[in-house]
Amino acid sequence: MSYDKVEVPEDGKPITLADEETGELDVPANPIVPIIHGDGIGTDVGPAAQKVLDAAAEATGRSIAWMRVYAGGSARDKYGENLPDDTVSAIREHRVAIKGPLTTPVGAGFRSLNVALRQTLDLFANVRPTYYIDGVPSPVKNPEEMDMITFRENTEDVYAGIEWEAGTDGAEQVREFLEEDMDIADVIHDGPVGIGVKPISEFGSKRLIREAFDYALANDRDSVTLVHKGNIMKFTEAAFRDWGYELADEEYGDELITEDELWEEHDGEQPDGTVVVKDRIADNMLQQQLTRTADYEVIATMNLNGDYLSDAAGAQIGGLGIAPGINRGHGRCLAEPVHGSAPKYAGEDKVNPTAMILSGREMLHYLGWTDAADLVRDAVEETIGSGTVTYDLHRQIEGGEKVATSEFADAVVETIDELS
Ligand code: NAD
Repeated sequence: MSYDKVEVPEDGKPITLADEETGELDVPANPIVPIIHGDGIGTDVGPAAQKVLDAAAEATGRSIAWMRVYAGGSARDKYGENLPDDTVSAIREHRVAIKGPLTTPVGAGFRSLNVALRQTLDLFANVRPTYYIDGVPSPVKNPEEMDMITFRENTEDVYAGIEWEAGTDGAEQVREFLEEDMDIADVIHDGPVGIGVKPISEFGSKRLIREAFDYALANDRDSVTLVHKGNIMKFTEAAFRDWGYELADEEYGDELITEDELWEEHDGEQPDGTVVVKDRIADNMLQQQLTRTADYEVIATMNLNGDYLSDAAGAQIGGLGIAPGINRGHGRCLAEPVHGSAPKYAGEDKVNPTAMILSGREMLHYLGWTDAADLVRDAVEETIGSGTVTYDLHRQIEGGEKVATSEFADAVVETIDELS
């Protein structure tokens, strides 16, 4: 495929699909990987992460042929559009990509480019691992108890973008339909009203929850918790929970047991090789995550709950500067940090690139480059552990050396060289 709005690297080979059914990839030793640096602090953390990932690839006998693609402010500056088709096509064709944050205007303006990318590429699972890195200051007493991974459904829920602005014909037509055809009276107040729709499907729920179950079984995790607000939203959030238990029953046999079965049939002694499936109501989950942190290992939830829960979990292990993420589809992924574009620090070479670097680590895992991924984690841990940190962590610890974004990346690269 040829592109006009993409910087095509001179070398590198494309990643291809090895198995249509499983989504397994054929990854060359020098893959072409599209990268969006992103808006705001994306211009700081993007290049920093690239440097570290290059070092980890090189240390393990590989290389990454970066393909610069554009979205958001950089795409508007260069091409006069928010999300060129070439950007989406290049990510689709090359299957594995990484992005920095993109700014989304609140209220008016264009729709979230992040959501557009996730939906267009059908990256249905937003996976956010939250684990503690030694030496990182945290607002809680035992941050090391946090080792949780959130599987957040990425294509449905109130993020689906089905909404009508107050005062528009669309909003009035939907109101009329609800009141007259669906017999919903005395619920919507008179006067202007904005209306949104929350679709939660069996297909979307089960394919997301399946990812969480498979991950838990493959990684010896004890439990998967389905998080929902099903006491209030019975046909969407409770349905998600029910489809989760149904899936466990239909596809996993004895490997998955419910919390009731654990107590009634096994006296609370979890049989080896099993995963316990439990569920929690979202508001309760937010406090349980703080007070009984170690009880929660894998979370499967819908789009909005997942966004809230993973940000709060990120705060427990030291804040957004640390929290990585990856969007996964069938044989396709787009890694991205949990944080946004923090415009007030843009271009200052100041913020923490750890979240972007560790998102890159998730991408290396997806490529099957476990040795390189482990090297990145070890080097980040060692660098932070030695007290070399950016301003956000420095202001919370005693001593240590405050470094710029680029200097932190250089220190991690140096540590990679030492460790390999
Ligand atoms: P934000 O994550 O950009 O910033 C919140 C605060 O977190 C910042 O003030 C900063 O103090 C801190 N922070 C964030 N990243 C940091 C880092 N790497 N190092 C140190 N501190 C860091 O959230 P916001 O202010 O709510 O959103 C700003 C913009 O980002 C909005 O336009 C929003 O839509 C967008 N956003 C994009 C994504 C994405 O691209 N996936 C995610 C969230 C928000």
